[in-house]
Amino acid sequence: MCIFCKIASGQISAELLYESPTVVAFNDLEPQAPTHVLIIPKAHYENAAEAASADSTTFAELFTVAKKIAAERGLDGYRMTFNTGASAGQSVFHAHLHLLGGRAFAWPPG
Ligand code: 5GP
Ligand code: ZN
Repeated sequence: MCIFCKIASGQISAELLYESPTVVAFNDLEPQAPTHVLIIPKAHYENAAEAASADSTTFAELFTVAKKIAAERGLDGYRMTFNTGASAGQSVFHAHLHLLGGRAFAWPPG
């Protein structure tokens, strides 16, 4: 079972910021911004493309949860990222949406 499956199922304890029957959100271990939340489907999909193909309703929920957390925190701007594939920086191969906020972000990203 992958690390995010263990967090989603409670095998590894993590402070959950949000939980629904299909999705959980928790803080990134190595935050890259004052807000750095990971929002994941409980079901294991290797990346965002697989998650979107397999369950578009749950995939859409990831964005709804990101919007809710951003609104709760009063973020005036935020970035949402799916790193998809190692060359794009993906290191955990369980689909996850990064919600980053609380500072200014450069574009283009590195
Ligand atoms: P990726 O590089 O795959 O897009 O993002 C993986 C993210 O997961 C990284 O930002 C990393 O800091 C975070 N991460 C890796 N292992 C853990 C963990 O065990 N707990 C938490 N909360 N975050 C993790
Ligand atoms: Zn998994």
